[in-house]
Amino acid sequence: MKTPFHLMIVPTLRCPAKCSYCWSSEHTGPVMDLGTVRAAVDWLAGLNDNPVTVTFHGGEPLVAGPAFYEAALPMIAGGLAPRTVAFAMQSNLWLLDDRTAAVLAAYRVPIGTSLDGPPEITDAQRGAGYTARTRAGMEVARRHGLRVSVICTFTAQSAPRREEIVGFFRENGFVMKLHPALPSLRDDRPEPYALPPQDYGELLVHLLDDCLAHPDTLRVMNIDDLIKSVFVRRGTVCTFADCAGSTFAVGPDGGIYPCYRFVGMEEWRMGSVRENPGRAELEATEAWQRLSAFRAFVDGHCGSCRHVRYCRGGCPYNAIAPAGGEVTGVDPHCVAYRRIFDEIADRLNAEISGGDGMMALMTGRRTGAPTGIMGLVQRMVSR
Ligand code: SF4
Ligand code: SF4
Repeated sequence: MKTPFHLMIVPTLRCPAKCSYCWSSEHTGPVMDLGTVRAAVDWLAGLNDNPVTVTFHGGEPLVAGPAFYEAALPMIAGGLAPRTVAFAMQSNLWLLDDRTAAVLAAYRVPIGTSLDGPPEITDAQRGAGYTARTRAGMEVARRHGLRVSVICTFTAQSAPRREEIVGFFRENGFVMKLHPALPSLRDDRPEPYALPPQDYGELLVHLLDDCLAHPDTLRVMNIDDLIKSVFVRRGTVCTFADCAGSTFAVGPDGGIYPCYRFVGMEEWRMGSVRENPGRAELEATEAWQRLSAFRAFVDGHCGSCRHVRYCRGGCPYNAIAPAGGEVTGVDPHCVAYRRIFDEIADRLNAEISGGDGMMALMTGRRTGAPTGIMGLVQRMVSR
C-alpha cells in the first residue's frame, strides 16, 4: 500500500484576526493565484502517485475568496486523478459565505476551526468579538452540512481553566482538537502564552480521564490519536511520524516548504512549484538535510525509549524552534509525550492482562465496568 501524502496549500499568510499567540499570520501579503495552484498540481502529479490529502492552511485560507475555491478544488481533484484526493481546511470561518460553503460542501472539505473555550476565554486570547464571528461562520457551515471540528489552543493562562473549557465543548457537542501554545521561530520575544511541557503532559492525562469519564459527550481527537498510536504501535498523526518527505507545503508564491509552519521562512524554502523540482532535487536542499539530521538524532537520542516507534521524537518544528533552526534536541514536549504515552500504555497493558478490555473489543459488548482505554478503542473502531 502506498504511503499517504500530505500537501498543505497556504493561499496566503494574511488573516483578519489578531490572536495573541499566533505565529503564522500577517495582516498584509500576497494571495496565491490560480496559475500557482496549476503549477502545484503539475509538480505533485510528477512527484508521486500516492493518495493525497490537500489541506488549505494559512494565515486564513478563506481570504483567497470563493472564486479561488470554485476553480482550485476541481483543478486539484481533476489534475491528480485517478489517485484518491481528500481535502481539509483550517479556518477561523469569519469569511465563510454561502457561495464558498457550497463549493467546500461539494468537495466534502472537513474544517478545523478554532475556539479556546467559552467566549470570555477565547476572546481574551484571540481578541474581542472573535467568538461571535467564528460562531456565525460555524452556522453557515452547519447550513451546508460541512463537518467542523474545533481546535482548542491551551495556553499557560487557559490550561488551569480546563474544567470550564471541557464543559463548554461537552455542552456544545464540539469535537476537540487540542493545540498547546508554542514558542515561535518567527518571534524573538519571550513567549508568555507558551504552555510548559510539564503542564501539557498533566493536561493530556486530565483530558484522558475526562474522555473516560464522559465517553458519550466528550471526544478529544488527540486522545484518540495517542491511544491509536500506542495500540497499533505506529504514529498516526504527523507529530508522531517521520513527516519529512511525506508532507510538503506550498506558500502563496509557489514556494515549497517542509510544512505550513515553515512557510515564508527563506532558510526553509526548498524551491518553487514553478521550477518543478523532483525528489532528488528536494532531497539535496538544506531544509531536507536538516530534517534528515533530526531523524538521525531521534534514532540515537530516543533509542532506549519504550515509545520511540510511535513517537519518533515528536514534531521537528517544535524541536528546532527553540534552537534557532539547529537540530540540538527532540521536541521539547517529550516530557508531555512520555507522560501520556506511559499512562496509556500502562493502563492498556493492565486492561489487556485483566481480560475485560480485550473481550469488550472483540465482542463489541460493554462489560458494565467503567470505560477503559479499550472502551475508547472500541468506540473508535465503531465510528
Ligand atoms: S513539522 Fe511538525 S507540524 Fe509540520 S508536518 Fe512535521 S510533525 Fe507535523
Ligand atoms: S517520548 Fe521523548 S524520548 Fe521517547 S521517543 Fe518521544 S521524544 Fe523521544
